Amino acid sequence: MSESKASLEGWKARIPLISEGEAGESFVADWSFSLPAQLDYAGLTYSLRSPLRVHAEKLGNGRTFFLEIRLSFNATAPCTRCLKETPLEIAGSFRYFYTSSAAEEGQNVDETVVCYPQDAVEIDLSEQIWESFILSLPDKVLCRDDCAGLCPRCGADLNERDCGCSLQGNDPRLQVLKDILPDVTEE
Ligand SMILES: [Zn+2]
Ligand SMILES: [Zn+2]
Repeated sequence: MSESKASLEGWKARIPLISEGEAGESFVADWSFSLPAQLDYAGLTYSLRSPLRVHAEKLGNGRTFFLEIRLSFNATAPCTRCLKETPLEIAGSFRYFYTSSAAEEGQNVDETVVCYPQDAVEIDLSEQIWESFILSLPDKVLCRDDCAGLCPRCGADLNERDCGCSLQGNDPRLQVLKDILPDVTEE
C-alpha cells in the first residue's frame, strides 16, 4: 500500500487560503489524478481503469472551513463469492473540517478535522483525497446480488452450472460440526 501511495507525489491538489478579514470567494476545483494500475486493499485486488476524478469545494470563506471532496473512478475487482472480475463504478462524497486555530491542535477530536499551520498560504489536499479514495472502496464486491458463488467441494461456478455436489446434501462444514458434536441431530 505504501508504494501505491507514492502516486500521491505527483498529485497537485492545492487550494489557496484567503487571509482572515478579506472577503474571499469559495474555492471550487475539478481535478483528475492518475492512480496505480492495481491496489491491494482489505483482501481484494482492485484494477483501476480510470483516473481519479475529484471535485473539491471549499465551503465558506476564511481560514476555518469545511471542504467537500466528491470523487469517482472506475475499477474492476474479483467477486467475493465467485471470483469473476467485476466492473465497478465507484463514487463517494466526504467532508473535512480545516482549521488553523492553535486551540484545536493536538486535540484530535475527530479524524475529519485537519489542523494546518497558521502561516500557511495554501493547503495540500492530497492526503485527504487519498483517504477519501480508500474509504470509497466497497466492503465487498458482488458480480450480481444473487451470485451463487463457487461450489465449496469442486470449485464449479454455480452461476453457470449445478455441479451436483450440493444435491448430495451433507455440507462438509456441517459434517465437521457433527463429528465434533455427536449430539447434533437433524430435525
Ligand atoms: Zn459472483
Ligand atoms: Zn461441486
